[in-house]
Amino acid sequence: MRFVSVAVPVPFLDRLTYNVPDHLELPVVGARVRVPIGSRTVTGCVVQQTADASPDPDTVKDIVEIVDREPFLPAGVVKLCEWVADYYLSGIGDAIAVAMPPGARSQASSFKTRQVATITAHGLALTHALGEALSRALGPALPPALGPTLPPALGPALGEASGPARDAAQRRALTSKQRDALDILAAAGVGLPVGELRDRGVTRDVLARLASRGLVTLRAEAEDRDPFERAALPSRRPDIARELTSEQREVFEQLAALVETGGFRTALLHGVTGSGKTEIYLRLAQAVQRAGRQILLLVPEIALTPSVTALFRGAFGDRVAIQHSALSDGERHDQWHRIRRGDVDLVIGTRSAVFAPLTRLGLIVVDEEHDTSYKQEEAPRYHGRDVAIVRATHEGALVVLGSATPSMETYQNAVSGKYTQATMERRVLDRPLAAVRIVNMRAEYAEQGPDVIISRDLATAVADRLARREQVLVLLNRRGYATAVFCRQCGDTFECPNCTISLTVHRARNGWRARCHYCNYSMMVPKACRKCAAPYLERAGFGTEKVEEQLAEAFPDARIGRVDRDSVRRKGALASLLGRFADGELDILVGTQMIAKGHDFPRVTLVGVVSADVGLGLADFRAAERTFQLLTQVAGRAGRGERTGEAIVQTLYPDHYSIQLACRQDYRAFFERELAYRRGMRYPPMVAVINTVVRGRTFDEAMQTATEIVRRIEPATATAGLTVLGPAPAPLVRLRGEHRVQFLVKGLRRADMRRALQAVLADMPQVRRRVTVDVDPLTVL
Ligand code: ADP
Ligand code: ZN
Repeated sequence: MRFVSVAVPVPFLDRLTYNVPDHLELPVVGARVRVPIGSRTVTGCVVQQTADASPDPDTVKDIVEIVDREPFLPAGVVKLCEWVADYYLSGIGDAIAVAMPPGARSQASSFKTRQVATITAHGLALTHALGEALSRALGPALPPALGPTLPPALGPALGEASGPARDAAQRRALTSKQRDALDILAAAGVGLPVGELRDRGVTRDVLARLASRGLVTLRAEAEDRDPFERAALPSRRPDIARELTSEQREVFEQLAALVETGGFRTALLHGVTGSGKTEIYLRLAQAVQRAGRQILLLVPEIALTPSVTALFRGAFGDRVAIQHSALSDGERHDQWHRIRRGDVDLVIGTRSAVFAPLTRLGLIVVDEEHDTSYKQEEAPRYHGRDVAIVRATHEGALVVLGSATPSMETYQNAVSGKYTQATMERRVLDRPLAAVRIVNMRAEYAEQGPDVIISRDLATAVADRLARREQVLVLLNRRGYATAVFCRQCGDTFECPNCTISLTVHRARNGWRARCHYCNYSMMVPKACRKCAAPYLERAGFGTEKVEEQLAEAFPDARIGRVDRDSVRRKGALASLLGRFADGELDILVGTQMIAKGHDFPRVTLVGVVSADVGLGLADFRAAERTFQLLTQVAGRAGRGERTGEAIVQTLYPDHYSIQLACRQDYRAFFERELAYRRGMRYPPMVAVINTVVRGRTFDEAMQTATEIVRRIEPATATAGLTVLGPAPAPLVRLRGEHRVQFLVKGLRRADMRRALQAVLADMPQVRRRVTVDVDPLTVL
């Protein structure tokens, strides 16, 4: 008997062994197969051509059908998925699912096809006959443009046509509509889509009649849905003549030398905001393309980096594919198959593009490598940057991690020499970094009252930029209108019934709506208190909606746009807002962290940060790092053009190190300071952490299960060199109606930590579904 290991689409399940019945060939790794599981038949993927263990021949089931003769997923991607499943403790099916294009599991073809009509040699002879008849009738004065033009390639086909007299007779038998259709097709020389012919007055019916006489052929042809076209993503020709700055040239040569070695290496490109990192990526990518290898460019969010996409599209033309979750399934599917066919040299995409089916990878660029969007917060909980590095080790590629504010992990690896470090300390053309001013909001409240949102300094600076026709970004990393509603009489507040979180107030068409940002529960805010019936409900706190409102009141002539998850819900809304701002149709853009990412708006000379400390209150070990990154990044949006920029940072904690050092834009000092804190608290990157959350219908149930898991892990603490913290109530102790208890496993040897946890969970299959394991968590809320 022959056995294979198959990944099936069932959560948490390890790979399964199936028998290949005699009448089937042995399927290759990466091929899809139809296999029985329980009473269903599902589409799985072969991950190994042999069995993991010798199965019991009486119980092992047969493969039903082999879908692919050739690998559907390249073997390298299958191997990567196996690594992901193992490292992040997910099921192999979960990992394979991320690498599959939409529709890969359904039987029907997901290609979009269109009908194309092509004229036959016989049909062509008829149009030729008409041409000759016409020229005889009209004489030599007929301008050549009026005669049917024949593409040269079709010339020889005419010689095969039968007698001209018979053609002329047949031609007369055609209706005028049919003759028109033949003329259009003859002039085109290539097949034309039926849809396009319809626009030119040729109906499907006419084509069907011509086809039945053998004058045209109709066939279906796969059509690629083009996301560039639909999203109106522009393409920008790279400025070839542009000279690299001396710093850029040094860094480029340093990295190009690594490309040349052709092996695996990770490099950190640490360049301040506006130092011209994109230009480096582009030239490296071109060098890799010349060497005949492929490039993967990972970005946090495509819509936030239209200029980067445009630049690469300009340079690589149709050798570019795009992969991200905002594409329609059809577009994703088509782009995936273009990559799989080897039609592209460069893939631009978000997190999951790290699984793109490239087979000649030479370079992976992870732009803004510190960005949290690279981490997937559902199974498999992988980090795109880390998977990229593992992929590059498998495939012998260079990884370039780019950032002005590298993550603690990455910088630590650069300092220790594990990564090559390339640094750019100056902005291009020696433009200065924005000068940053701190406004102490405690003092502002004391002088102006507790309701101030925009300080006098910030208001003055905004007025000044508006008068000079320059642009302003205003950051508040909190969406909504108000952060809470409470009753002034009895103090009742509006909490989410499903989560331990207070509801955020949004302005709605017909009043105020309170919404939970975790589970999306929402309700209209009533006129009177639900508890005491007093009509004194008050809104407290503020978010982006209120900042937008206040700016509009203070600057009635300013054109203001708002970018947050609420305002960009509609497809294309984000690209449109950013586009209008880039085109100068808006003066002020208010928004959450979305406005801080990577943008290059040369006319922005002022960045205002309304509450710099929004994230500092979170019970999360990365709170200071996040705050530092966000402030440095947003300040980096100012002064990227000819005029120098300024940033004004409002805060209640002007002495906090993450705020102080972000304002001085001193990355190195922040890193040292933060590392000392992490060392003291035993947090990453000093140790590895696995966060385990156990969910239950009641708190006691969750706590009991968590306690039991921890009890079983305890014996491993000595041998595996790990410690367990907890179990304890999670900071968000109730979420989406479930109670949550968590514990952290800390240690120096990740593999041992994973094994210990894995072994315990394998023994408790009945609770596996209620346990979320997060290896290298970005947050522990
Ligand atoms: P970063 O990603 O490092 O913040 P960008 O790559 O967005 O910086 O570059 C900042 C700006 O400088 C962009 O407008 C870019 O077109 C421009 N730029 C980059 N390199 C050069 C150069 N060598 N000469 C002139 N302008 C440059
Ligand atoms: Zn909720």
